Amino acid sequence: MSTKEPTSGSDETIVWVPSKPDPNRTPLLSVQGLVKHFPVNGGKFIRHRIGTVHAVCGVSFELFPGETLGLVGESGCGKSTTGRAVLQLLHATAGDVHFEGRDLVGLNTKEMRSVRRNLQVVFQDPYASLDPRMSASAIIGEPLRIHGLWSSNGLERVRELMKTVGLNPEHYNRYPNEFSGGQRQRIGIARALALEPKAIVLDEPVSSLDVSIQAGIINLLQELQEITGVSFLFISHDLSVVRHLCHRVAVMYLGKFVETGTRSQIYLTPSHPYTQALLSAVRIPDPRAERKRKRIILEGDVPSAVNPPSGCRFHTRCWKAQPICAQEEPALIERGQGHPVACHFAETI
Ligand code: SF4
Repeated sequence: MSTKEPTSGSDETIVWVPSKPDPNRTPLLSVQGLVKHFPVNGGKFIRHRIGTVHAVCGVSFELFPGETLGLVGESGCGKSTTGRAVLQLLHATAGDVHFEGRDLVGLNTKEMRSVRRNLQVVFQDPYASLDPRMSASAIIGEPLRIHGLWSSNGLERVRELMKTVGLNPEHYNRYPNEFSGGQRQRIGIARALALEPKAIVLDEPVSSLDVSIQAGIINLLQELQEITGVSFLFISHDLSVVRHLCHRVAVMYLGKFVETGTRSQIYLTPSHPYTQALLSAVRIPDPRAERKRKRIILEGDVPSAVNPPSGCRFHTRCWKAQPICAQEEPALIERGQGHPVACHFAETI
């Protein structure tokens, strides 16, 4: 990893445009047919299984070196469960997860520790994810200690990482409660970077932060990717944030991908009604375009993942639904170069 510093860690407007990844490269992470079900238990006297939560239902994707793939969808669509199953924090019900060609499913804790060196995670809540009893130095340096890499210059490495993420290195002995929300998330990022990983799963890393602070963290992630070439699996419910960071986007609804594509395909020619509805809620910076923006209001709540709707899972809320939609599940079909969509009536708006 280069030690070149980012040009700024400021909380300012996002202006970066992601570079295009080379599609001929070998994927760093390959997920095929990932399924994660959770049992629902009940019973008055004897607890027994009464149902199943179908959280993730056969998703497949690849993450290439140096790129950011966004997983987006409403709360409860299965995106965080997908991230956790990739990291083996949850055992997948079915499917394959390969990282650097190695099958992760079924690895024990010791074997996963060696994988973690190159596959790190940043969690959503910077308040809950940092141990309040540990100093910034102890938190950031912990992965180095776990992997036996803490040496006489360990503290220097921590200070360097703090500088890289835009924190004052002199604050290394402060505790989490002495930092702001944005600064705590920077501590989490510095910790994730400590081992110079090849990929980081970012699970809603900015959703608990103010908009101005979000922009600073997004800028920081972009700069770090430019400098280190690290790949990001970026999980978010916020399409406006994803637009600034991701090369490719996968839109999830009730445990399945409904549309995937490059950033331009998703934002300029969204083809699935769900993607169109999500995008219609995103504010446009141009005031004239913003005045013309038409909101598509989705009726009702996301159905229960215990009993997903028949046919197309989106049919209970889709304004384009036809009788066939409740009977036949649409396959995820290629609609252009690398732009598959799961809809019987897919079209661009
Ligand atoms: Fe809507 Fe039917 Fe397409 Fe599903 S298949 S998204 S219900 S039009």
